[in-house]
Amino acid sequence: MATCEMCGTDRVTTFLSEISGAKLRCCTRCIESNNLTVLERRIPVQTEVRPVLAKSKVYTKNIGKMEKEIASDFHIRIKRARENKGWSARDLAKRTNLRLNDIQKAEAGVQPADNVLEKLAKALDISLFEEAISDPERTIKSPSSRSMTIGDALDEFLGKN
Ligand SMILES: [Zn+2]
Repeated sequence: MATCEMCGTDRVTTFLSEISGAKLRCCTRCIESNNLTVLERRIPVQTEVRPVLAKSKVYTKNIGKMEKEIASDFHIRIKRARENKGWSARDLAKRTNLRLNDIQKAEAGVQPADNVLEKLAKALDISLFEEAISDPERTIKSPSSRSMTIGDALDEFLGKN
C-alpha cells in the first residue's frame, strides 16, 4: 500500500505510470480516468525458480566404474583373444549369448556394458580391466610388493637389523 502521487490518496495500490514524460506512482483510479501508461505491473511473475540441471546421474555411473577400470585396449584384447581361439565374431556371440552387433561394437572400440564385458572376458578367458597398478585398494592388500614402511625406516635409522 502506498500513496498515489497524482491524487494523493493514501493506502492504495500504486503503479509506476508515465504521465506526459513524467513518472509517477498512481492509483488505479487515476490510471483509468487519465488513461495512463503503466510502466510496472504489480508483482512480477516468479521467474527466479529455475530448474536444477540433473546432470549428476552421469557422474554417479562413472564413480561405480572406477572400482574396475576398463582397459583402454579392451577391443584389441577381445579381437586378439577371439582370433587366437579361431572363433568368428558370430561364434563369440553364440558362446557369450550376446548379439553379434554387441561383439562388433565392442571390437570397434565402443565400450560395452559391464555385464557384456564380463561375459566376453569369461568366454575368451582374458581380463578386460586394467591391472592392479592403478588400483590403490589392491596395492594396499598385496604384501608381495613390499615397500619400506615407516617402521622399517625407523629400524634403519636406529641401526637395528
Ligand atoms: Zn490517484
